[in-house]
Amino acid sequence: MPAWAKTWNDRWHDFKRHLGILKHMSPSRAFNLAVNLTCAFFRTRKVPGFPYVLRLDPTNVCNFSCSLCPTGRRNYGRPPGLMPWNTYKKAVDQLSPWIIRIWYYIWGEPLLHPELPRMIAYAVKRGLSTNLSSNFSRMTPELAKDLINSGLEYIIASIDGADEKTYHKYRQGGSFQDVIQNLKMFLDVRRGMRSQTPFVEFQCLMTADTENQVDAITSFALDLGVDRVRFMPLAVPFFPYRGQDVSQYADWFPKKPETYRYQYEPGKPANPGHCFWLYEGLTLNPDGGVSPCCRSYFKNEDFGNILEEPIRTIFNNEKFQRSRSLFSSYPHTNGEKNVCDGCKEFLQTAKS
Ligand code: SF4
Ligand code: SF4
Repeated sequence: MPAWAKTWNDRWHDFKRHLGILKHMSPSRAFNLAVNLTCAFFRTRKVPGFPYVLRLDPTNVCNFSCSLCPTGRRNYGRPPGLMPWNTYKKAVDQLSPWIIRIWYYIWGEPLLHPELPRMIAYAVKRGLSTNLSSNFSRMTPELAKDLINSGLEYIIASIDGADEKTYHKYRQGGSFQDVIQNLKMFLDVRRGMRSQTPFVEFQCLMTADTENQVDAITSFALDLGVDRVRFMPLAVPFFPYRGQDVSQYADWFPKKPETYRYQYEPGKPANPGHCFWLYEGLTLNPDGGVSPCCRSYFKNEDFGNILEEPIRTIFNNEKFQRSRSLFSSYPHTNGEKNVCDGCKEFLQTAKS
């Protein structure tokens, strides 16, 4: 099959995946989604509801040292650790009637959390869509079985290359042979258990190295038996959103303009729209801290902590309201400036 045909096949899988969200819908989730999207459309400061997606970090620890990742550089935004079960349960118990999906990864390797299958099973039992991304270095046959039995819906293998050289340039600390063996093993276990889930995505960052290997990487990954191959635009989130100079990373950026995620022009927002993160999701760190989005990882930028306040209170506190108001056409609210004030990712439209 030619590579372009595989791409269409991949897009079809993507479409089916989005349609699949319907099976997680309930009247309360549909109502909450409608309220939230209406608030986002009108850019209200308050949201009389809940986020509809939960992004949580089971751990901010990782065994790799990837080149552009703060965790890989051991530039932790908060003390490294595992999310305690009670913190996780507290979040899911409050949110499960309203949210549709949970993403189990932000700044660490989730397979390092020993209770991950239990966490996922708890959410699946509540009818939630569950999604995981892993570097696949710690996948074992036992863990593969536990994850499949947990009901996990989607797993991303973040591999970033189809050969040793390309892989190791970004994925420092990993073994290309090992992760490919682990991915094959996972697919074998899934086949042996006759399970349709989880859907397995092979993910690759679009960099100066990989942009010319799209067909080779796609063929390599599909030959392994994965369900989908996806190229992610390179993001160096912790640099441009703070308006920092990214020219020192220029060697990483793809040369073809269509593969760029950001324009990387100092002072210019990367995205001309408003920030949808402030409505869509809640970003939960292992210590219970709530970040405004997965671009922010420093503890001193948190908007609250679920161990201290109900999530609904945090989601409409002064910090969230001030940040949402930055994208309205009204004067923004008083209140202390926060990380969103300096963010260059979206176009801020508030009158000061
Ligand atoms: S595997 Fe993921 S979390 Fe770990 S260093 Fe690499 S990019 Fe960061
Ligand atoms: S404005 Fe920037 S920092 Fe704030 S939530 Fe949006 S993307 Fe994140």
